[in-house]
Amino acid sequence: MNNHYDLIAIGGGSGGLSVAQRAAAHGARTAVVEKGQLGGTCVNVGCVPKKVMWYGATVAGALRDAPDYGFSLQQQGFDWQKLVERRETYIQGIHSWYHTYLADNKVDEIHGAARFLDTHTLQVGNERYTADHIVISPGGRPQIPDTPGAELGITSDGFFALTEQPREVAIVGSGYIAVELAGLLNALGSRVTLILRKHQLLREFEPMLRETLMEEMQDSGINIITNSSVSEVSRDGEGTLRVSCRGGITLTGLDSLIWAIGRIPNTEELDLPAAGVAMDEKGFVPTDEWQNTNVAGIYAIGDVTGRAALTPVAIAAGRRLADRLFGGKPDSRLIYENIPTVVFSHPPIGTIGLSEDEARELHGDAVKIYQTRFTPMYHAFTTHKHVTAMKLVCVGAEERIVGCHIIGLGADEMLQGFAVAINMGATKADFDNTIAIHPTSAEELVTMR
Ligand SMILES: Cc1cc2nc3c(=O)[nH]c(=O)nc-3n(C[C@H](O)[C@H](O)[C@H](O)COP(=O)(O)OP(=O)(O)OC[C@H]3O[C@@H](n4cnc5c(N)ncnc54)[C@H](O)[C@@H]3O)c2cc1C
Repeated sequence: MNNHYDLIAIGGGSGGLSVAQRAAAHGARTAVVEKGQLGGTCVNVGCVPKKVMWYGATVAGALRDAPDYGFSLQQQGFDWQKLVERRETYIQGIHSWYHTYLADNKVDEIHGAARFLDTHTLQVGNERYTADHIVISPGGRPQIPDTPGAELGITSDGFFALTEQPREVAIVGSGYIAVELAGLLNALGSRVTLILRKHQLLREFEPMLRETLMEEMQDSGINIITNSSVSEVSRDGEGTLRVSCRGGITLTGLDSLIWAIGRIPNTEELDLPAAGVAMDEKGFVPTDEWQNTNVAGIYAIGDVTGRAALTPVAIAAGRRLADRLFGGKPDSRLIYENIPTVVFSHPPIGTIGLSEDEARELHGDAVKIYQTRFTPMYHAFTTHKHVTAMKLVCVGAEERIVGCHIIGLGADEMLQGFAVAINMGATKADFDNTIAIHPTSAEELVTMR
């Protein structure tokens, strides 16, 4: 077997698969090295299983609201294990699809953990592979703190391995993963406590979004402890967990504790020093705007770069890199601006661009804000209500839209189209000149005064 390739990607996740497939489509001899399951975090322990659970939670919400719409239902309970089994069968289908996809696209699959021997050589098991171009795309994994008893808790990976629903659960963290797991567990009937180190969640988001979400989560019955952190975890006599928090609060009788306090890059086993590739103090691999590391012929994409850890970002960075290296597009690169993103909270959030504070810092008094808050029509009929809130951040006399922030029913599907318009430089007048679609929540975005 010829072990030399034009390009090898380390990691068969969102980034590695994309760069390899696109390079192969341009005629490059290409391989992907994967030590676990194809699809990486997104398919196995990220976006996909998370969204399935979120859909399950959405069904639970519809069942709760059904009597308000005239339905008389007799619920026979919820079978967590069944949902998990069906979810995993679905994911196995994606794995099979990937094997065929790589074969069809003439990308070789190499199984095992890769480590560098030098700038162009990788060791995988007993084999050595060389490549002109090597792309580092090993993703990351959840962080576990250095707290006594921390090993009694699980992470998002452990959450997806649960075959029984935790009845009483505490989640530590304020980022989107913590918020999403808290929301879906609560909707599925678990009693949830969320422990925040500061006084707010989603710290990097537009304040209107995080404040509204916090109210909504509390209204839905989630217990939120602020300005605290876990000092010790232990098992009590009943076999349940006891979690002591700084500030004097102790939670008892928990059957699960989930750490959602951040992610660390999978760089330790790559032996990057053997190739002279620089890392930052946390182990992330910095790149320039072309995804180049400090070593010629070695690139990094996706979560390992420590920037915008999202699947479509890893995919876009990989495809553009392959287009640049093999597709005759020397200017192809990903611009890390105006990246739309959704938080699958309850209710969901869709957000793009600058927050009001960021815009004011950059543009001062040239910023103009439009905002609205209302009860969506669906909830006019329901006992349990979620609010919808929207904010447009505009700049200059032409009122160019530099930020669009939505929380509420349907925000997850609403944002994508607006993101296209905003990336094209849409102004408030462009929004206003667009005929509204009635009756929807989205129409508020083109009718705000
Ligand atoms: C709970 C959760 C929910 C998420 N939800 C969303 C979402 O809704 N939307 C979204 O856009 N993003 C979401 N993400 C983020 C998304 O999953 C990541 O941004 C994306 O998977 C990053 O892709 P990647 O290619 O950089 O790494 P990964 O997908 O993590 O792939 C890296 C692969 O490299 C392999 N690997 C590591 N080291 C080696 C080695 N030495 N040799 C060989 N193989 C190796 C790993 O096994 C892994 O398969 C979520 C993440 C989590 C954890």
